[in-house]
Amino acid sequence: MIRKEARLELIVGTMFGGKSTELIRRVKRYEIVGRSVQVFGPSIDTRYGKDSITSHDKLQRQANYVGSVPELEEKVSPDTKVIGIDEVQFFDSAIIDACENYANQGKIVIVAGLLKDFKDGYFPFKDGKKTMSDLLRAADNTTILTAICDAKNGNGEICGSDATRVQRFIDGHVAPQDSPVVQVGGKEDYAPRCRRHYQFYK
Ligand SMILES: [Zn+2]
Repeated sequence: MIRKEARLELIVGTMFGGKSTELIRRVKRYEIVGRSVQVFGPSIDTRYGKDSITSHDKLQRQANYVGSVPELEEKVSPDTKVIGIDEVQFFDSAIIDACENYANQGKIVIVAGLLKDFKDGYFPFKDGKKTMSDLLRAADNTTILTAICDAKNGNGEICGSDATRVQRFIDGHVAPQDSPVVQVGGKEDYAPRCRRHYQFYK
């Protein structure tokens, strides 16, 4: 029988929305009461990964950075009650089944990731077979976090509305639709945008 508290929790949203911080907050509550916790993240070297590693506190630095789903599965201890996974969108689609299996085994699985890519589509997993929409389907509960839109209004002040999307810029211009979803290197920037200020792709 599956333990009462077993579940798959999903924390999604845009960049700059505090997903990793929320993941850390949730797993820390379990550490405080003595539950065994393991936190994982993808070891791929991208701007996202680097930012999230350096911008967070001790628990984040204690995370196990793994290169693949099998490597993650090897490192999960049978005694672990709570599994946290950050930047889940950078794993292969097999991470979805892995998360469901752990929840079915009675563990609490708390997963954070980007819901959408720069084109406002569901973020594809690394192998391209599934997207974050499939993880939404599998989750027992989902929290969607927003950032704050920092587009400048006419008077030079920032917009300040909830940003539900992120616009990608390359060399100061909105990135073309055919640029790769995950771009390593290159002079690019991302900015949180509300519906009014996001430039949609046709
Ligand atoms: Zn705005």
